[in-house]
Amino acid sequence: MRISRIFIYDEPSIPELSIDSLAVWLQNTFHVTTIKRENIFKNATDDAAYELASSRIFNMRQPFQRHSPTNEEVEFERQTFQNTSKVENIVPYDGFEFQKIVTSQISSDKTCAEDFHLIFTNKLTCTFDSDDYRYHGRALIGANPSIISTTGIIEAPAKPREYYIELMANYGQGLNVESIKKKYQGTYLEYHDSRLGEIIKGYCLQALFYHITGEPFCDLLDCRLNNAHWQRDLLYSQIECGNLCSKHSEILKNWIALNDLNC
Ligand SMILES: [Zn+2]
Repeated sequence: MRISRIFIYDEPSIPELSIDSLAVWLQNTFHVTTIKRENIFKNATDDAAYELASSRIFNMRQPFQRHSPTNEEVEFERQTFQNTSKVENIVPYDGFEFQKIVTSQISSDKTCAEDFHLIFTNKLTCTFDSDDYRYHGRALIGANPSIISTTGIIEAPAKPREYYIELMANYGQGLNVESIKKKYQGTYLEYHDSRLGEIIKGYCLQALFYHITGEPFCDLLDCRLNNAHWQRDLLYSQIECGNLCSKHSEILKNWIALNDLNC
């Protein structure tokens, strides 16, 4: 799949995203002109607020059912358009509904078959898995536009098993959750973690590889395309390793050569 331009849409509540340096990195990695845009919902309409509120998930063990939002829920979404750092608790949204809504927000003069759009959001996107019949938080909704949820990056890959065991063992004994968090600090990503910017690049690679080859993931831990289910693996693949494996480096190199040729 050829790409002539990459558009990236900022999430201003996540300064770790460093949109300027990310644009440079994407351009250098894929040799494709990369254009920065404001948050996708910056000029969104009331309809989009209503649609977003309708795509909230209330039952994680049921496939998507459109929600009839209250006025307060619609108003909350409208306010997040102006100030994306406004969050209540973590609200889960159906990822495919969310994807339809953001698609409708990309203005038609910016849509071209060879353009690729990458949207960053702090909202938590989820997809329903028919294998275990429940919703799961997702860091990436791969498509065009692709969505990268920074909350998904922090919440979806699991923390160390021992962390949960200790949390459960001490549950009811009045032990301070914060002390357990402190004990495992560094082994998982936290909100506004300084490592987030580097981790986001790995998800950008997965989004673009999915668009280019139809296959976003790699089985190898020593590859940034590894689909991490654990925070430990995520930190290893993206920070300690921080590279593509030789097979995927080669695929990228060949794709760049072909994409350049078609320019
Ligand atoms: Zn690989």
